[in-house]
Amino acid sequence: MMQVYADHAATTRVSQRALAAMLLCLNGYFGNPSSMSRPGRMSREVLDHARARIASCLVCDAREVYFTSGGTEADAIAIQTGVDVCLRTGKRHILTTAIEHHAVLNGMVHLAHEHGLALTCLDVSEDGIVSVPHFMNAIRPDTGFVSVMFANNEIGTLQPIAEIAAFCRSEGILFHTDAVQAVGHIPIDLTGLDIDLLSAASHKFYGPVGAGILYARHGLQPSRVYAGGMQERGVRSGTENYPAIAGMAEALVEATERMDADMVHGNMLRDRLIDGLERLPGVTLNGDRRRRLPYYVNICINDIDGEEMLLYLDAHGIYASMGAACMSGAAEKSHVLRAIGRSEKQIKSAIRLTLGRLNTLEDVAYILDVMREGIKKLL
Ligand SMILES: *Cc1c(COP(=O)(O)O)cnc(C)c1O
Repeated sequence: MMQVYADHAATTRVSQRALAAMLLCLNGYFGNPSSMSRPGRMSREVLDHARARIASCLVCDAREVYFTSGGTEADAIAIQTGVDVCLRTGKRHILTTAIEHHAVLNGMVHLAHEHGLALTCLDVSEDGIVSVPHFMNAIRPDTGFVSVMFANNEIGTLQPIAEIAAFCRSEGILFHTDAVQAVGHIPIDLTGLDIDLLSAASHKFYGPVGAGILYARHGLQPSRVYAGGMQERGVRSGTENYPAIAGMAEALVEATERMDADMVHGNMLRDRLIDGLERLPGVTLNGDRRRRLPYYVNICINDIDGEEMLLYLDAHGIYASMGAACMSGAAEKSHVLRAIGRSEKQIKSAIRLTLGRLNTLEDVAYILDVMREGIKKLL
């Protein structure tokens, strides 16, 4: 049976280069990076090297890069930083969108509640994209912090981050973007963008789990979420996961080197898959057709139960999901599809197919064959 992994938005397989970098570290570097001993200094060099490589991929300064345990932790520190800036400057309003990952959405709700701040969760158009004029309208004189994701993890839509960031900068509002689905997949040049804080996660760009990136622009001190041994300049205490960090840096360098080719490949596979799916009965694409990540497709299918379809696909070696990984199997339904106006019945029929760099046109043809039979069988 053919096997097609189509759940890259949930996590990606560690690349051979990233694996080799990690093994080198795990085998040869055993010192604690904070220790003054020679082994410690060697591990410290691994960290410094990884930080410099990541900074060059994102076009920023190495001192603007903080290592975290993943996307969620980077988001949490960024949001805490934004809220702390509001509290210091007397701003009482924070804003995010209705289609954020739960790491941002729940974090914003929690901190707004804790500190009595007003929170706007901006709705999006049916195409799954934040409208810039609508966004500008929602800004208040007392808005102090905004968080808008770079690319959506469920439907793949790209957000107008350059415009939103520029507007925030001109209004003196701190701006964070959850770029977990974008970093390593589409070009991001931080010198050309008015972004104050950005989050990324290694395992979404073919690096290992357990490592993430928080970018904080010069002059902005990220908040300390908990105290400890002051690693990462006090922002994220605890012995650094330097093998994973070395793997993450290697994965990001590799992703950056091959980005142009991967994007061409990914746009081609995505468009073929969308074209084919739209010829099947009852299929609707979720999110704008063109302003979306390479490789990413999310559909609703009339009168189909998404969970049954997923099981059918799984039994035929196709590994997809209904939406965010944290919802699969759970009763909770997609807040993103609700935000773009899908009915509860449609939401229950959703299938997310996110391909990756190792997938081929044969995989797309196979997915389309199995889906065609699946719809016939399950209708
Ligand atoms: C996966 C993901 C996260 C969470 O990252 P973890 O490394 O799993 O903590 C946050 N935001 C987005 C958009 C994601 O896709």
